[in-house]
Amino acid sequence: MSISFYSLGAAEEVTGSKHALEIDGRVVLIDCGAFQGRRAEADRKNRQFDVPADKLEAVVLTHAHYDHSGLLPLLGLNGYTGNIYATPATRDLANLIMMDSARIQARDAEFLAKRAARKGESFDWKPLFNEADAVATTNQIITVSYNRPVWITPNVKLEFFDAGHILGSSMALLTATDAEGNTVRVAYTGDLGRKGKPIIRDPALLPPVDYIILESTYGDRLHESTDDALAMLAEVANKAVKSNGKIIIPAFAIERTQELVYYFHTLVDKKIIPEIPIYVDSPMAVNATSIFQVHPECYDQDTHEAFIKHHKNPFGFNKLRFVTSVEESKSLNDMSGPMVIISADGMCEAGRILHHLANNVGDPKNQLLLVGYMAEHTLGRRLQNRELEVKIMGEWHTVRAETTQINAFSAHADYEEMTAWLKALDTSDLKRIYLVHGEHEAQVVFKDHLESNGFPRVDIAKYGEAYEL
Ligand SMILES: [Zn+2]
Repeated sequence: MSISFYSLGAAEEVTGSKHALEIDGRVVLIDCGAFQGRRAEADRKNRQFDVPADKLEAVVLTHAHYDHSGLLPLLGLNGYTGNIYATPATRDLANLIMMDSARIQARDAEFLAKRAARKGESFDWKPLFNEADAVATTNQIITVSYNRPVWITPNVKLEFFDAGHILGSSMALLTATDAEGNTVRVAYTGDLGRKGKPIIRDPALLPPVDYIILESTYGDRLHESTDDALAMLAEVANKAVKSNGKIIIPAFAIERTQELVYYFHTLVDKKIIPEIPIYVDSPMAVNATSIFQVHPECYDQDTHEAFIKHHKNPFGFNKLRFVTSVEESKSLNDMSGPMVIISADGMCEAGRILHHLANNVGDPKNQLLLVGYMAEHTLGRRLQNRELEVKIMGEWHTVRAETTQINAFSAHADYEEMTAWLKALDTSDLKRIYLVHGEHEAQVVFKDHLESNGFPRVDIAKYGEAYEL
């Protein structure tokens, strides 16, 4: 059996995850994510779609995040009619994300066409896919629960393990078997989560494997503990209460928003902060929250008990308001604090968060709270870098709001957590680790760290380069 692995995205970078296992000339693709970052560059990379759709035998989706699922519709548009395998919660969330992306692209196309017409310029930007394409993709998804091995090609078996990253997130274990019964076991972590996150379970342990394709987003960083994070969150909330300011939190509509609601709920319950209104201003977050409520198979023990035993809803409480209409979203501008506004998108590249930032970063009584990973060249990264002047929707703004960053809410394990997870596995058969999904500098540090912790064979996967397994 000839088997090799290569990456067509998230190689020495974080976004655009597309990893392929080629077995005797046929390909199993794992994830088909979009690139995010500088707008023109991301657009160019997303259009240069290198996935060999004609060679694909099966597609596996580890979790719903846009940088893992966002280009799935291009598979169908390039002629792939086969199955896409994902957990049930991932299917529902991925559908939401692809539909949202289709709508954003349609709006962008309309906006650019109007602007070009006004300037008398020619215009040829087209969306990568539309809503019908996203629906067609959802129809290709076959759901597979955790720990239910299935054959996805005549010689490749797939089993999902809980990755503890977001609702429905999985690690994919692919076992390829040849005619003589020889096997090669390859595990792809997808995005590896952390222990102790609310709502979802801790990352599962994998059985012995031959190869691990490992994410490395925080290969050179350590997170604060959840307790420290809660203390920081309380401090930010209490400052806003004192100044009657607003706390603006860019957050992804999925997982981070529900987690933040859960944490604020906890702080109020413990009387560490007073009850202040929390506005979740993202239509997608509203939809995502309802998906959270129908997937109890993904809950950890605490969330399960809250629902089943105590009949509490951890996704809603008194002072929580979901904002869906544009009018209501705008009306938040005229309201005075203290209040919390959680809005998408998480890296501040699009969505209603831009309006809230434009309206609030200039006022020193407000708080800007950054809780997620910010890709290079995004507005979120510039805010994280504490740039004093930032451009928001074409206008320059001076940042006077106090900025606080809390990394402990990260959905990604830091390098010590990843190493501890690896050490808890039976790695006696492990031949090699390939690092993906990380910026190059972080990967170099992580590779060193792994090597000094007893994992001597670590490679940083390069774009398009095939590694014989
Ligand atoms: Zn992710």
